Amino acid sequence: KKKKLKKFRILPAITIDKKKIEISANVSNMQDIINAKKYGAESIGLYRTEFLFMDRMELPSEEEQFHEYKKAAIMMNNKTIIIRTMDIGGDKEIPYMNFPKEDNPFLGWRAIRISLDRKEILHAQLTAILRASSFGKLKILFPMIISVEEIQQLKYELEKIKFILNKKKIDFDKNIQIGIMIETPASAIISKYLIKEVDFFSIGTNDLTQYTLAVDRKNDLISHLYNPMNPSVLKLIKKVIDVSHKEEKWTGMCGEFAGNEKATILLLGMGLNEFSMNPSYIPKIKKIIRTTKFKHAKQLSKLVLQQNTTKKIQKLINNYFI
Ligand code: PEP
Ligand code: MG
Repeated sequence: KKKKLKKFRILPAITIDKKKIEISANVSNMQDIINAKKYGAESIGLYRTEFLFMDRMELPSEEEQFHEYKKAAIMMNNKTIIIRTMDIGGDKEIPYMNFPKEDNPFLGWRAIRISLDRKEILHAQLTAILRASSFGKLKILFPMIISVEEIQQLKYELEKIKFILNKKKIDFDKNIQIGIMIETPASAIISKYLIKEVDFFSIGTNDLTQYTLAVDRKNDLISHLYNPMNPSVLKLIKKVIDVSHKEEKWTGMCGEFAGNEKATILLLGMGLNEFSMNPSYIPKIKKIIRTTKFKHAKQLSKLVLQQNTTKKIQKLINNYFI
């Protein structure tokens, strides 16, 4: 079976009725990028930069980050890399940052909340990404957005960095695209306003599920409740995709759900433009897309979105595969 899947690595993800989907990889380091290429990723949909900040004694310098991002850009050979600004906090603690003790770290000082409080960290990271953008095709992705003000502040900081680089005559991609993670219910609910501020969305179903259902994604006691097939989560996903298309922008997904074969046809039918996943899942997902009609996927997703329970949704999907 493995061998049969292998041929799908190099094939494009295109449905029988010719709908083209972008298949990307989630990565955290150079080894992941090598794997992404090996398994046939067309681009990097999520580069998790927080790993540059972990397992060490101090913050990574701008220079160090620049070298990492530049290496990645060159390795991907002008194919897109969506670089996410660091998402530390939550469960990813960093000893040298002296985190205050929090009762609810997942509801706490995390991701852009840290970046906006500690601007020197944000500035170093944005400068490094911009400098590296002249060596490939980079996009910037901001995690844990809950408001329009946040993205406006982040864009303001980005403009400041661009201004400085221009003045110093340092090369960078003047048209670098920026996007946000949709991983909080707030961001999905106000996606109509947020889309006006950005070029694209990437749905983070790991956190979107956790925060929508109020179910800690790491707690085994309630893991049976943690399910992105809950109609509430699916409705938010559909809303976000529709909102972005109305503005002629695109939506990808970099949460684990994008690599779940039970979800592929459903997400395809909802109109998702890009699926970003662990590299090893890519051939399997490409195969499903290549053997499906977009028309049928749309019919399934329409039916799924009319169901009031997770159980009915799962049954519909399971029946589809028979
Ligand atoms: C997500 O929340 O779905 C996501 C992709 O981000 P992370 O898993 O890094 O929180
Ligand atoms: Mg997340």
